Amino acid sequence: MNKYVERVLKDVKAKNANEPEFLQAVDEVLTTLDPVIKANPQYEANAILERMVEPERVIMFRVPWVDDKGIVRVNRGYRIQMNSAIGPYKGGLRFDPSVNLSVLKFLAFEQVFKNSLTTLPMGGGKGGSDFNPKQSPHTPGKRCSDAEVMRFCQSFMTELYRHIGADTDVPAGDMNVGGREIGYMFGQYKRLANEWTGVLTGKGLSFGGSLIRPEATGYGDVYFAENMLAKRGETFEGKTCVISGAGNVASYAAEKLIQLGAKVVTFSDRSGAIYVPGGMTQEQVQEVMQLKNVKRGELSELKWKGAKFVKGVNSWQLADKVDAAFPCARQNELNGKDADYLLKHGCTLVGEGANMPSTPDAIAAFVKAKIMYSPGKASNAGGVATSGLEMSQNSERLSWTREEVDAKLKGIMKAIHDNAWEAAAKYGKKGNYVVGANIAGFTKVADAMVAQGVC
Ligand code: NDP
Repeated sequence: MNKYVERVLKDVKAKNANEPEFLQAVDEVLTTLDPVIKANPQYEANAILERMVEPERVIMFRVPWVDDKGIVRVNRGYRIQMNSAIGPYKGGLRFDPSVNLSVLKFLAFEQVFKNSLTTLPMGGGKGGSDFNPKQSPHTPGKRCSDAEVMRFCQSFMTELYRHIGADTDVPAGDMNVGGREIGYMFGQYKRLANEWTGVLTGKGLSFGGSLIRPEATGYGDVYFAENMLAKRGETFEGKTCVISGAGNVASYAAEKLIQLGAKVVTFSDRSGAIYVPGGMTQEQVQEVMQLKNVKRGELSELKWKGAKFVKGVNSWQLADKVDAAFPCARQNELNGKDADYLLKHGCTLVGEGANMPSTPDAIAAFVKAKIMYSPGKASNAGGVATSGLEMSQNSERLSWTREEVDAKLKGIMKAIHDNAWEAAAKYGKKGNYVVGANIAGFTKVADAMVAQGVC
């Protein structure tokens, strides 16, 4: 490995020893940059890597709120403003008990490269809280009520609003932060700042949201995969696909895959995985969306004829034959053993919808097998790209049609695919989207940082 990369990796490990997810993400990117670092000595001379692994700003704050029983609860809120070289910070908010500094720094670091890949002017950030909307603090087995979620969101925004703005930092949703939460936070921002701007994306359609934004990450993941297939002269027609997760990304990926003639046979959530050997119908996908977004229930509640629900497992080792896999739930959810199973059962394409869902040994197995493997930072960038389109519509005070936004999303996913493909080929790694996406995303940000001097 290049000495400069080696030194930065060693330093970052020493400085952030208790942040495993962040270190995993940094390692994954830096170890692929050798050729581009060697060819561009100005990056070392300007300490670009040292600066990229250090957030521009980390904001951490108390979020006090009152539950339905009148008891005061306290959560921790965060915003990581990672890199603003090519645009205002942009990235989602995640509400989950697993949220901590390490997880958010990993997500913010990935977001820098992802946003750069979209071709739009957006820097990288990420935030959230350890608040769990899926567990009421006072009644085991029950979710927080809408009123509790609203009070939490209002308190969260009461601090966050000082640090964000349409030209500074534009948060969006992520895990457990959907239309409901964005609506409550937008309302509170507007009230505090006394201005109506596109400060959050993923808004409702009646107040500045963009058509296709809810669908964008899942659809974009599938569009990216279509581009990979096209390179081999293939389509999705008749292909058996396994999907993990049952949330926003998973359900819209399923919807698009079925539209393209694929057979979608699994979903998963915290309760387990559902396997439908004959493939799901669009009506069943809609039922899952209703279950998750309206009823806020579990896959274990589904009573589908011919389907098998397996408690406590993920989707990977259920089907006898797999053509393509779409990890769409969370980080590190697909390990080396899962990768071996998928490869043995015919899988030739893995399109990551989630952020960093494959563990390093799984990635190594996919790369070694030379299958079509797209890392999340490239293939799930459709969500943030459409957020960028929402920002443009808000600035122009215009709304584009569904067809217009979908066409732009398709174009962006093709551009991301082609940039990653070409960057990999340029540095002698043809077909390796991991290397291609990292190099293409990195170069644009690094060049902007060099041009802007030491800041
Ligand atoms: P959702 O909250 O809508 O869905 C997440 C899904 O993952 C749910 O089905 C959830 O199960 C499941 N899940 C989460 N944690 C676990 C766990 N510990 N064990 C088993 N299942 C789990 O989130 P999104 O669909 O929005 O996001 C999914 C992934 O995609 C995340 O990695 C996110 O960062 C990434 N992403 C999302 C974007 C977006 O636009 N939404 C954009 C780019 C990336 P349950 O329903 O039981 O909670």
